[in-house]
Amino acid sequence: MCGIVAITASGRREDLGLILTESLKRLEYRGYDSVGIAVIDGGALRLAKNVGTVDIVARVEGFARLSGSVGVGHTRWATHGAPTRENAHPHTDCGRRIAVVHNGIIENYAELREMLRSRGHVFTSETDTEVVPHLVEELKSSGTDTYSAFKKAVSALRGAFAIVLIDVDEPRRIFFARRVSPLIVGLGDEAILASSDIVSILPFTNRVIVLNDDEVGYAEPGLVFIEALGGGPVDLGGRVVRVEYAMGEFEKGPYEHYMLKEIREQPHSLAQTLSGLVSAKEEVERAVRILGGSDTVYFIGAGSSYHASLIGALYLRYLGFRAYAIVASEAGAYLRGVREGDVVVAVSQSGETIDTLLAVRESIRRGAKVVALVNNPLSTIAREADAYVYLRSGPEISVAATKTFTSQVAALVYLGSALTGDSSRVDRVLESLRRLPDVTALVIESSESVAKSLAKRMSSVPSAYYLGRAFGYPISAEGALKIKEVAYVHAEAYPAGESKHGPISLVVCGFPVFFTVVGELDELIEGNIEEMKARGAYAITVLPSGMATPVIEKNSDVMIQLPRLSLEVSLVTHVVPYQLLAYYTAVERGLDPDKPRNLAKTVTVF
Ligand code: GLU
Repeated sequence: MCGIVAITASGRREDLGLILTESLKRLEYRGYDSVGIAVIDGGALRLAKNVGTVDIVARVEGFARLSGSVGVGHTRWATHGAPTRENAHPHTDCGRRIAVVHNGIIENYAELREMLRSRGHVFTSETDTEVVPHLVEELKSSGTDTYSAFKKAVSALRGAFAIVLIDVDEPRRIFFARRVSPLIVGLGDEAILASSDIVSILPFTNRVIVLNDDEVGYAEPGLVFIEALGGGPVDLGGRVVRVEYAMGEFEKGPYEHYMLKEIREQPHSLAQTLSGLVSAKEEVERAVRILGGSDTVYFIGAGSSYHASLIGALYLRYLGFRAYAIVASEAGAYLRGVREGDVVVAVSQSGETIDTLLAVRESIRRGAKVVALVNNPLSTIAREADAYVYLRSGPEISVAATKTFTSQVAALVYLGSALTGDSSRVDRVLESLRRLPDVTALVIESSESVAKSLAKRMSSVPSAYYLGRAFGYPISAEGALKIKEVAYVHAEAYPAGESKHGPISLVVCGFPVFFTVVGELDELIEGNIEEMKARGAYAITVLPSGMATPVIEKNSDVMIQLPRLSLEVSLVTHVVPYQLLAYYTAVERGLDPDKPRNLAKTVTVF
């Protein structure tokens, strides 16, 4: 996770600290337990870092006072060592002439640290990262230049990393390397930058080079050099891509939180997803062609993307195909049976989720084809897949996925129907999906007030169940995940029928149990509601209007009735009340839903 950024500007800039601060704010979704920057100015390294959010640390540590032409910045999601000032990046060597920022995990850091210690290096943090500046310092001590030492140091590392290093001895250069963790180089007129994500450098440029695994290099104004570790220099001719983003998409606008903005934005993001599915014909046709040749389809995702995967797999089964969903971090075990003829659909908002990426690589190794469903066409997963479908949801800043989840489901439903090869079905599904923007707006509007009032109750309960049958289960799982993530209410999703095999033992008077009814009513859910109600549960049923039977009506303490829609549309919109409930519960509890503790978006560590 962690976000890293680096800049080498054409001349000395008084505002270098401010530039790094602004870039880090855009990377904060990647981690926010501590923040730091380092610049080279007047022949010395100047460092400022501490625990806290970008805003706070920048103010307290005076980032704005730092100037220079070269600098690095980091926002951390700790993997090795607690979030403390000492463990915050950048990390330096003993001579405090080298500064390093890192995203990822250096697996062999303990042995490197031992070796460096025995050579007299003194470590000041518990991180894996700190071995890098010391190793470069050590290698330089025999007269090697910075780049050769950096390259040698990187070759000695095992694990996953995006690293940028600056050195007082090379005051115009930034040095970078990448393996697994993402890193791009941005080519601006006033500066060359490196970053974990293009969003952080957009004010400077939208022309970028995406580094491949095991590429290493350096940049200074007017010059970028990249080579493959163990290979030769890379021809950068065809590597520069231009990314189109509107800067306004990154602003919070009138909203207090990005999460609410992104929930309310769904009519628009879904319209974008749909028009992309229709207009990017080649992209979609390629994906459908690959899927069409499959024996079995495996959907792989993590977090919300796993729940979208569950819906994707179930929808394909509903259409008569053989499909499974696999949690990305467990894929290693499940992929053993995958072989040539199978297709893996990798679902990842960022396209960088490391567990999903590793599953993609393993699937390719086993001869399967891979279709990626991503919100970033430049991402590693998109680039390594045989085909990708780009969601076009726009940037999602809040850590909890909302609009990208609904876009994923809409795209999966569309791909599923296209897979049948039945053009009248495809037309019918497309026709109903076209209603999504209007219908989603309606669902948001109609569930807003009930979500707010339920949030008051949910803000004081320790635990809740979210139950559903068939498609109702993955939607319940997404609902439970949202409230857990942002409001810290323990919530568990269960297949409704399975809930009597254990979970029901916790139910006492007033225990909230949500029931998700989507698509055709499976009457067995009536029994499940009655069972919970008989134990005093507080039952909240989310269902299409007109579908409540007398039993459901009698047993539901609250009914959230949504417009009655086609299955395909409901699969997308049914989660909306749960998103709103999670948001308002977090607000009710005085929490910041955009930055839930211990979480980060774009999980790039195992
Ligand atoms: N391993 C580094 C640390 O704990 C970087 C963590 C990350 O990229 O999430 O500081």
